[in-house]
Amino acid sequence: MAQKRDYYEVLGVSKSATDEELKKAYRKLAKKYHPDANPDNKEEAEQKFKEVNEAYEVLSDAQKRRMYDQFGHDGPAGFGGGNPGGGYYSYSTSGFSGFEDFDLGDIFSSIFGGGAGRSGSRRNNGPMKGADLRYNLDISFEEAFLGVEKDISISRDEKCTTCSGTGAKPGTSSETCKTCGGSGQVRQVQNTILGQMQTSRTCTACHGTGKIIKEVCETCKGKGTVRKVAKIKVKIPAGIDTDQSIVLRGEGEPGVRGGANGDLYIVVRIKKNSVYTRKGTTVYCNVPITFTQATLGAELLIPMVDGTKMKYRIPEGTQTGTTFTIKGKGFKNINTNNNGDFVFTVNVQVPKRLSKEQRDLLTQLAKTMNEQPPIKKRGIFG
Ligand SMILES: [Zn+2]
Ligand SMILES: [Zn+2]
Repeated sequence: MAQKRDYYEVLGVSKSATDEELKKAYRKLAKKYHPDANPDNKEEAEQKFKEVNEAYEVLSDAQKRRMYDQFGHDGPAGFGGGNPGGGYYSYSTSGFSGFEDFDLGDIFSSIFGGGAGRSGSRRNNGPMKGADLRYNLDISFEEAFLGVEKDISISRDEKCTTCSGTGAKPGTSSETCKTCGGSGQVRQVQNTILGQMQTSRTCTACHGTGKIIKEVCETCKGKGTVRKVAKIKVKIPAGIDTDQSIVLRGEGEPGVRGGANGDLYIVVRIKKNSVYTRKGTTVYCNVPITFTQATLGAELLIPMVDGTKMKYRIPEGTQTGTTFTIKGKGFKNINTNNNGDFVFTVNVQVPKRLSKEQRDLLTQLAKTMNEQPPIKKRGIFG
């Protein structure tokens, strides 16, 4: 894959550029490189135009920008392989506010139009990137810890194989739309109080494609795409956290007029665990211990997230609420591959019921400790 240019460099702004500066730079460049404005140099302009759009798409989204600043283009290095879709993975926190209510496995919606954008004003008649899709994937705490491979089914539009996406019945051809002359746009002149205004709208005769199909493909009814359920393997790397996503390039909806396919964003959410919690790469857990273990010290068996148990010696006189850290037994950091720590807090359990023997022993003990421990005061003698 060719080296991608830095997004800030693409837009010609500094790393600290404000949203306003970004927007300004984007508008200027989008106008300059718009393929329609560069008829002699269409291909190169289109490349630049795409590059500018992609840069702006990322940098104009606060969350994506943060991830880009942190991870660069492809996410953390060293995680490029194993993608069944033939693209590559990268990470980003999801920037898709408004989709939180979707249930597990619920699909998606187009999130952003990519390439040439979807709004009428930025529409062009050239190749357009397909819509990106989002899939919410809930995984267990342990799966996030160890990494996991999941099979997911998504329903998406795919290029019709009968007509290769043209929408025309095989063997027939399509002709240039007479209404718009193939541009897909119709110009209109309107008289307004400010004078004549020229606007252009999408040609209704050809729906902006610039072509009229004489006989439609029976499989897709002329749309060029068919709805299909695709089964996709997703490799979730160890260490992933809630709201991080895996991007499967080209697994979104098909591009239009030869444009690239959209991407599929697998947004990961980690189910609550009854034993562990997590903050970044650190795992937290509470470990109940008995009063005697706390007093005399003990060798504990700590249940680790990967299912193993680890021996850990706590010292004599351990107070309730004391935390202990086992280094390197937390989550893997996706970025650096280093492991975080495992932190457990001991809670001393006071027995609620005692046998007669235990009661006698404790009573004897109490006699040797018949004074309340001194209340410590902070002070010069403290
Ligand atoms: Zn078809
Ligand atoms: Zn037309």
